[in-house]
This record gives sequence, structure tokens and C-alpha cells, in this order.
Amino acid sequence: MRKIQVNSLSFSTVKQFTEGCSENVFLDKVDKAPRLGTSAAALLGSGIHSASESHFRALLINHKLDADVLLRVFENRWNAVNPDNIIYGKQDKEKIFTQAKDLISLLLEAEQPKEILAIEKPVTYQLTDDLAVIGKADLIYRNSQGRLVITDVKTSAKAYSDADLYNVTNQVYTYALAFSEPVKLKVMLFVKTKTPRLEEIELNADDIDFEEWKNRFIQTKRGIENNIRYKVRSWMCKSCSFSYLCNQKSNCVEIPIIERKAA
Ligand code: SF4
Repeated sequence: MRKIQVNSLSFSTVKQFTEGCSENVFLDKVDKAPRLGTSAAALLGSGIHSASESHFRALLINHKLDADVLLRVFENRWNAVNPDNIIYGKQDKEKIFTQAKDLISLLLEAEQPKEILAIEKPVTYQLTDDLAVIGKADLIYRNSQGRLVITDVKTSAKAYSDADLYNVTNQVYTYALAFSEPVKLKVMLFVKTKTPRLEEIELNADDIDFEEWKNRFIQTKRGIENNIRYKVRSWMCKSCSFSYLCNQKSNCVEIPIIERKAA
């Protein structure tokens, strides 16, 4: 069996490994299998992410991009994917583009950060002697009280539940540990409901147990290095970019999710 050595991990890999599907991590990070198929919802999210990034980069140099330019940024991101590889859910392309336009308007109408310090800032530090944490902070700025604020940009089909908030707090906390001064954590959440809205939510890092958080990284490293490979069948399989490989027969353990309903 080939030896796998994990020297660095991002929070998204840890989350996929500990809460999602281990096979997905192996196909993506170890086998480096090509992705085939991207969900339209994920593409909307990354397009809005790209548009937000361009918006904040322009603000950094005291410039403001208009809605048409930001929509073109969104379109470029969308067009980078082969149309045959886009997996549509309930909404067609036209509806998704209308939603993107609405979300971009919300971004432009929102209160803008005055003192932007960095956008898409790579973050890396040693968590243990043999494991580094890597990540990218979407937006870092100083607020009017002079406090450093780290913001993550997300899109969601619905308002965040407590569990979603806990999850995103764990993620942004990962970046906060790279700074020597106290930071505020925030999520800028584009909610894709019928009437879309933009929520800016402060996150409470006091909810995070550092030792538990650190252990998730260490366990993920151990799990990958020891080839703990299993498929977790869930609703995520429908839009998984690796399902074309995963559905071939293999010796990998399968763990179907059984949905139980209260009587
Ligand atoms: S199709 Fe499902 S089980 Fe297979 S890698 Fe993707 S998420 Fe995991």
C-alpha cells in the first residue's frame, strides 16, 4: 500500500473528512481525480464569491465597480465551466442569473468596510510539529473601533441554523488563530430565498473548544495517512463531482445514511 503523508490541512478538508465523505477527500486530495460535474448551486456560490472579491479589491483602491461589471465577473466564473458539466437542481440558468443579479445589488447596497486590509489572504501556521493549517481569509478589515474583522463570504439556500453558524465559526476561527491580536469574526451570508437577502452575522468564537477543534485536524491527518477510506452515501452524492468514479465497484466500505422519521 502506498504511504500517504499529510503535512497540511484546510478546514474544508477536515470538515469533509469528519462530517461528510472520506472517499470524497481521497479522490480529491490523494488521487487528485479530475472533477466531472459541478452543481449549479455551487457555481452560483463561487460566482458570487468572485464578484464579491472583485468588489472588495476595487474598494481597496477606492474604486467602486458597478452592477454590470460585477455581473460580468459572475458570468466569467460561470462560463469557465463546460455547460455539459453543470448539474441543475430545481432552478434553470435564467433563474440563477436573476438571483445572481439580485445578490450583487444587495452587495452594492450594503454598508461597505472602510479600512480594508486584505482580500483572499492566504493563512498558514503550524498546528503541531508535523501538521500545518492552511486556508484563505475572504476579507480582513479594521472596523470603526479599530478592531480587526475577519469575514467569510457564503451563499445559502436558507437562513443559517445554529449548526451552520457553529460550522462557519469553526472555519473562520481557523483563520483567526493566525493573528496575534484579538479579532472579530463575521460571516457575510447571501441567502438565496425567493426575496434574496444579505445578512452580516457576528460569530462567537467562545463557542469553540480549541482542543476539540485541534483534534479534528489531528484525527483527519491520522485517518488519511492510515487510508481510512469509506463512502458516505447521502444527498450530497447527487451533485458530487466524483460520483462517476465513486459509483464504479471498489473495495471501499459503504456507509448508507438511513433517514429516520419520528412516528
Ligand atoms: S458520490 Fe457520494 S459517496 Fe461517492 S465520493 Fe461523492 S459524496 Fe462520497
